[in-house]
Amino acid sequence: MGVALASAARVAPLVRHAPTIATYCSHSSLQIFHGAKQEGFRTLGICGGRPPRYYEAFPLARPDAFLAIPRLALLPRYAARLNREHAVLVPHGSFVEYLGPEKFAALPVPVFGNRKVLAWESDREKEREWLESAGVRMPKRYESIDDIDGPAIVKYYGAKGGKGFILAKDRRTLEGFRPTGPYVIQQYVLGTRYYIHFFYSPLSRDGYRVGNGSLELLGMDRRDEANIDELYKLGSQEELLAAGIRPTFVVTGNVPVVLRESLLPQVFDIGARIVERSIELFGGMVGPFCVEGIVTEELKFYVFEISTRIVAGTNVFPSGSSYADLVAPHLSMGRRMALEIARARHEGRLREVLS
Ligand code: AMP
Repeated sequence: MGVALASAARVAPLVRHAPTIATYCSHSSLQIFHGAKQEGFRTLGICGGRPPRYYEAFPLARPDAFLAIPRLALLPRYAARLNREHAVLVPHGSFVEYLGPEKFAALPVPVFGNRKVLAWESDREKEREWLESAGVRMPKRYESIDDIDGPAIVKYYGAKGGKGFILAKDRRTLEGFRPTGPYVIQQYVLGTRYYIHFFYSPLSRDGYRVGNGSLELLGMDRRDEANIDELYKLGSQEELLAAGIRPTFVVTGNVPVVLRESLLPQVFDIGARIVERSIELFGGMVGPFCVEGIVTEELKFYVFEISTRIVAGTNVFPSGSSYADLVAPHLSMGRRMALEIARARHEGRLREVLS
C-alpha cells in the first residue's frame, strides 16, 4: 500500500457503492463527464443557478443529473447530499477558484487527488519553495529594481489574467515605478510557451517510474492570451503605453502543440522532480497537473507556474493527443482520471487516490 491520503471512513461508502463523478459545470467539465461516462460512471453536474444550456448540445458529455444550487459558494451546505449520491469531486481551475481553495479543501466530501496540494499551488511563495527545492529551473526573482539585469515582468499578487502586469525591456524602463500593491519582479524569459499535461498515477507499476508509481505525458497546449498575442500589430510598447494601452494575459482559448522530441528528457525530468518533492512535502500529488513554461533559444525549459489539477488546455484532446495516443487509444485526461478511480476501487486502494 502506498501513501494513504483519505481516511478509511471517507472512502468506505465508495467501496460498497459505485462512485458518482461530480464537478462544477465549467472549465473542463464537458471532458470530465465525457471521460467518466466512457468508463461507466454516473455523473453529476454542480451549477450555480440553472444548468448551462450548452450541455444540451453535447449528449456524450451531458451529466446524468444536476445539482443546481443558488450559488457555488453555498456548496458546503450540500455536502450531505453529495455524500448520499456517493460523489467524488473532481477539482478544476474554476471550481477551486470560485469556491476558494480553503473552502474547497475543507469540504467533507471525497475529492480526486490530494487536496493538500491546493495550499501549495494557490500561494506563489509556497509554489516557488516547492519547485525550487525540487531543483526545477525558474525565472529569476529580483528583490529590487536595482538587481534587474535584463527584461523583466512585474506581477501584482492576485492580478487576474495578468491584468496590471508590467513588461520592462530593462531596468531603466522601471525607473520611477510606483507600485500600487504587493508585487514580485521576475526575469522575463524570452522564448516559446508550452503547457505540459502530466498525469501521475501512484497505482501504476508500468511506464516511466516515479516514486512508487508512474508519470504519463498526455498532451501539450499553448494558451491564447488577449490582448498580448495581437498587441504587436498596433505599434511599439512605448507608443501603446503613451496611448494608455497596457498588455494583459487573459486566457481566451487553447491550441494544441508538440515539443521537439529532444526536449522530452528535460520535461520528464522536471515532471518527475515535481512529483518526488510533492511526496516529501505533503504526501504526493495524484492525477493531473500542468507544468507551464518557456523554452529559450538555448533550449532551456523555465517553469513559471504549475497547476496541480486538470487544466482547460486538455480540452483540445477529448479523444487522444500526439502523446496520449502513444499511451492508450482515445485517452483524454477526463477518461484517465475515471480509469484511475475505477482501478483504485477494483484494487481496494481508493485511499491512495482520493482525499
Ligand atoms: P501567470 O499569471 O504567472 O500564469 O502568467 C500569465 C502569463 O504571463 C503567462 O501565460 C505568460 O504568457 C506570461 N509570463 C508569466 N511569467 C513570465 C515570465 N517569467 N517570462 C515570460 N512570460 C511570463
